[in-house]
Amino acid sequence: MSKEAPPALIRPALLDWYDGHHRDLPWRRDPTPWRVWVSEIMLQQTRVESVIGYFNRFMERFPTPRDLAEAELDELMGYWAGLGYYARARNLHAGATQVVERHGGRVPDDPEAFAALKGVGRYTCGAVQSIAFGRPLSVLDGNVIRVISRLDYVTEDPKLSATNKALWRRADDLLDPDRPGDFNQAMMELGATVCTPRAPKCLLCPLNTHCQVLREGEPESLPMKTKRKKRPQYDVIAALSETEDNRIWLGLRPTSGLLGGLWSLPSVRSEHPDSLAEMGLRCGDEIAQIQHGFTHQVWSVRLYRATGRPQSDQFDRFSAFTVSEIAHLGLAGPSLKALRAAGVKLPHRRGAG
Ligand code: SF4
Repeated sequence: MSKEAPPALIRPALLDWYDGHHRDLPWRRDPTPWRVWVSEIMLQQTRVESVIGYFNRFMERFPTPRDLAEAELDELMGYWAGLGYYARARNLHAGATQVVERHGGRVPDDPEAFAALKGVGRYTCGAVQSIAFGRPLSVLDGNVIRVISRLDYVTEDPKLSATNKALWRRADDLLDPDRPGDFNQAMMELGATVCTPRAPKCLLCPLNTHCQVLREGEPESLPMKTKRKKRPQYDVIAALSETEDNRIWLGLRPTSGLLGGLWSLPSVRSEHPDSLAEMGLRCGDEIAQIQHGFTHQVWSVRLYRATGRPQSDQFDRFSAFTVSEIAHLGLAGPSLKALRAAGVKLPHRRGAG
């Protein structure tokens, strides 16, 4: 990195802009440590607009860490389903339990104690401690990486360890020690609303007079990306098997692993519908086909009508549910898509991911 703009110029420009332009978001109205923590976990890998509804419903049901710690994971999954990245929810549950056990139910006002909680990495620690407690800790997420990469014309891949460390150092240098929480939010807000991946609004940007890529290159070319490897594709056969009173059989996935803790249609990784026999099911007609992409793999799912009561040691247990009961479960994304493709009417807000 060369010719970096001095923090003393960046801070007032960015904070003035933030004071006049920041979005009114529910967790900003009342930034208690718990609300900030929950919002930061929900916002990882997920857009603000998608999070707001989930956040409000979640806070109504789990207004304190103790409320979450005392709830069953299964109930939490119902509130999380659709946000994806379910390990976040399991970790938040575990972290809230630790807050109750170690800190009497209060989120610790101490970066070291907070960072020792399950699921709290450097980013979450910096965000919660700066926003909720005013501690001078920086954050580095995708938005901040993009802003700094462009501001300083960083042409190395931020995923490289040396580049990532240099970006953290720069985020630390830039941080305004008097308003660390606002500064961190301002950097993230700028990345989300102005310095966007495509078509950044450089004319409106409060940092445009300090921005190196604007002078010397093409903003959209940064941050530097290495080509993503093609994700492996797997065939999955799923079954829609109903009881005589039209309840649908679902299996609860074990908490560890992909889609852990979520309900899903009985399914096996296979190309052959006959494989459903391994689960004690008799296979009928094919009724839907869907594709579902995860971060590291893609499932190609074929859904068959089937009869019988499923059994498999790949699931914790099986239960049969009415469609309206399913609407309140944490339902795995591929199952939700497959059921919809087969014409089963499920409300929009539960499921997916
Ligand atoms: S001037 Fe453009 S590229 Fe530079 S920080 Fe602002 S929005 Fe991003």
